[in-house]
Amino acid sequence: MIRKERAMERENFYSQLEQKPSSKTFFQLKNLGNNKNSVTQVIRHEEKDITCPDEQREVLAKTENVLLQYSLPSIDELLIFLPTKIKWKQSVRHAINTFWSNKFRSLSREKSTLTRLCTDIINIGEIHPVWKTATEIPGDTKKAITKARILTGTYLLQATKAKFNIGSTDPICPLCKLEEENLLHFLTRCPSLEGVRRTFYAPLKQAVINKIGIDQWKTNFQNRETLSQLIVDCRKLVGSILPNDNIFLNMVETISRNLCDKLHQQRLTQINSLS
Ligand SMILES: [Zn+2]
Repeated sequence: MIRKERAMERENFYSQLEQKPSSKTFFQLKNLGNNKNSVTQVIRHEEKDITCPDEQREVLAKTENVLLQYSLPSIDELLIFLPTKIKWKQSVRHAINTFWSNKFRSLSREKSTLTRLCTDIINIGEIHPVWKTATEIPGDTKKAITKARILTGTYLLQATKAKFNIGSTDPICPLCKLEEENLLHFLTRCPSLEGVRRTFYAPLKQAVINKIGIDQWKTNFQNRETLSQLIVDCRKLVGSILPNDNIFLNMVETISRNLCDKLHQQRLTQINSLS
């Protein structure tokens, strides 16, 4: 009977861990039982048996720190509720992915290059829609690479080059020479890219109008910054302007990947013809 209760406690413990890995959960559960008889005499660490007490303390301290960092149960707690190998692997993977996903989100908020990237949907261990919506055809992969650069602020335009190479790079658009060549100019304003833009922008506009209606389109997307956001990462507009409809959002992602690639190709062709 006691064994059965223990087994149930352990099951509860791991289901809580999977759903919400917090140290609070473990400390609560730790109080359910205390095994005072457990004595560690030999520690197996990195394929070696450690018997020296000082070395043992060092290994245990390091291990405790790692467990604490990922909000996993402490060594004492694990001695009380020893998980199965499969459960432990699942728990560790979940704890590590959650930790790094949260870390990435908090760090990305400080990076100006990532302002247009929707970080809420990014989870470590999951494929981003920019790759998920691309087929394995080489041409599609190339388009996704260009789109990923635009998404992460690493697509090099004159304004970006000038920012990192002050004095020797002209930030003005080499194609139209009218204004600074930043992402907004490249995606929505440059008159030299207008022909390509008009052709490949039409299906994007139509898809969004079909979903939210012409009035909402006019209200929101006359603003060039919002329009750029739609092209770069439509998921950042979910809730405020767009519905949380995965099929629709993936369609917008696919169309915008095509639009970005055509603008990129046209820009390269025109730059090459200048030299
Ligand atoms: Zn231009």
